[in-house]
Amino acid sequence: MAERTIADLEALLLRLEGKGYKAYKGVEGVYRAPTFTLFIDHVQGDPFAPPSRVRVQVEHRKAGFPPDTYSTKSRRIALADFLTRQFAAVAERVEEHLGTGHSGLIAIDRPGQEILERTSVVITEEYIEARFVVGLPARGRRILGKEAAELLCRKVPKIVEETLFFSKLDRRSLYLQILTAEDADWLRGQLPKRGLVAFVADGSILPRRSGIDDRPLPQEKAIPFRSPESLKVEFHLPNRGLIKGMGIPEGVTLIVGGGYHGKSTLLNAIQLGIYNHIPGDGREFVVTIPSAVKIRAEDGRRIEKVDISPFISNLPFGQDTTRFCTENASGSTSQAANIIEALEAGAKLLLLDEDTCATNFMVRDHRMQELISKDKEPITPFIDKVRQLYSEHGVSTILVMGGSGDYFDVADTVIAMIEYRPYDVTAEAKAIAEKYKAERKNEGGESFGQIKPRVPLAWSLDPSKGKYEVKITAKGTRAIVFGRHEIDLSAVEQLVHPGQLHAIGQALYYARERYMDGRRTVAEILKLVMEDIERGGLDVLDSRLMGHYAIFRPQELAAALNRLRTLKVK
Ligand code: ADP
Ligand code: MG
Repeated sequence: MAERTIADLEALLLRLEGKGYKAYKGVEGVYRAPTFTLFIDHVQGDPFAPPSRVRVQVEHRKAGFPPDTYSTKSRRIALADFLTRQFAAVAERVEEHLGTGHSGLIAIDRPGQEILERTSVVITEEYIEARFVVGLPARGRRILGKEAAELLCRKVPKIVEETLFFSKLDRRSLYLQILTAEDADWLRGQLPKRGLVAFVADGSILPRRSGIDDRPLPQEKAIPFRSPESLKVEFHLPNRGLIKGMGIPEGVTLIVGGGYHGKSTLLNAIQLGIYNHIPGDGREFVVTIPSAVKIRAEDGRRIEKVDISPFISNLPFGQDTTRFCTENASGSTSQAANIIEALEAGAKLLLLDEDTCATNFMVRDHRMQELISKDKEPITPFIDKVRQLYSEHGVSTILVMGGSGDYFDVADTVIAMIEYRPYDVTAEAKAIAEKYKAERKNEGGESFGQIKPRVPLAWSLDPSKGKYEVKITAKGTRAIVFGRHEIDLSAVEQLVHPGQLHAIGQALYYARERYMDGRRTVAEILKLVMEDIERGGLDVLDSRLMGHYAIFRPQELAAALNRLRTLKVK
């Protein structure tokens, strides 16, 4: 095919004026402009169908980004994320709705507070590529050729001009983002060397605007974080230099304090410390080890042959808890399964908040032990297992617990939140535990027990729906629709972006096709998928060069697999 230019595209679109919508199919292809190349990969079938997929490539020698803006993985991700935000902002300014359905739309993935590896902007050795969608304009089902030419040959080039060229960007904010993300990655990498599982920098702003607005509470309303002296640690960040803050050591940490004093806010910041945050977020230097998993009760979920016997045994009617199955888990069985599955997926830190835990899973006090003897209570409470998790499996726990002082006995560190400020009350808590000995008996037994590997069966993952062999999509951060089945992820709190769910859905299919051979275990499959993504980027999941994927962890891939209601394991 002869090489076509943007001018050719314009002429083509003008000729389509008034034709039926299907005639747009003819514009799929590649078009050169002096500074970039436009790829129209897929044209929508009608104005209401999912919008058309488009890519724009700019060669580095034209884009002019200094190599130090993308020389390492950390920097490349931060740059691509920055460019996505810039593109989204300019697109929002120039796009105008002008006809039926999606007519006139120009949209790229819309990042939140987290800096994530995404496929919306891809940076290779040769070029920078932005992937987005456009709604090709129509009135009814008649093509609006002039408007289409305006959209693709004027507006898109304008957005590209203002986003993919270094000279057009605000250098200071660009470098701030790159250097901040690099520092945060470095800091996260340092935690194990210092025996820490999390770090919260002094001056951090942890509270958010609201339950549905993830931006920081405005400066004048928020109390900045300040570490207690005894937990204070220092780091010399590669770019920013000296930073101080609270280091949370490995082991068992309690966060105590009165209601509404900031306990959950601290834990929420820690659970999202697995991600980097944009400058100005307030949590730029709140970092947590990458395998940290939030654990909560999730009654109603399905469980497929999970060995929850460390926590639950002797169920009524002799139900097996070493290969426990249910279509409708209770609060405590769901929480037990969530822990075992997290361990199976490699978690080295568990995060629990009493607000979302099942009480009977967490504690069983002396009086209750007297009234209901151990042989009539299937649950071994978490309090009797939390130390074994650390000593036998090297798994630390951070637990928000304002309601039971029994936990003083099993904690290494106790942090009290008082009026949004943390205090180290470990010594006090230990003294109280000494003075008022808990009369309860330990019910934890000799050891935690082994995590038994499970082998998932490929045929139990069916992505087909109607005439489609593969139909996978996402509903915000709440659910993946996998073929005919919805995977409810609303209780998987560390998912922050719809792009992660799109990618996880695709990764389930990828794992099924490549690695589920009836022998490999869940852990092995997770590892193989993540290694492929590490090597080839998220595009390994999908050959269509989609722009709507964002990176996820093996822990969330496992969470989705485990919540697929059709899953069967050997
Ligand atoms: P707890 O879990 O101790 O009951 P929360 O963490 O839910 O308390 O916090 C209670 C309220 O206080 C929330 O509305 C939260 O946004 C706000 N808050 C938390 N930390 C701060 C802070 N550092 N500065 C100002 N407000 C805060
Ligand atoms: Mg709370």
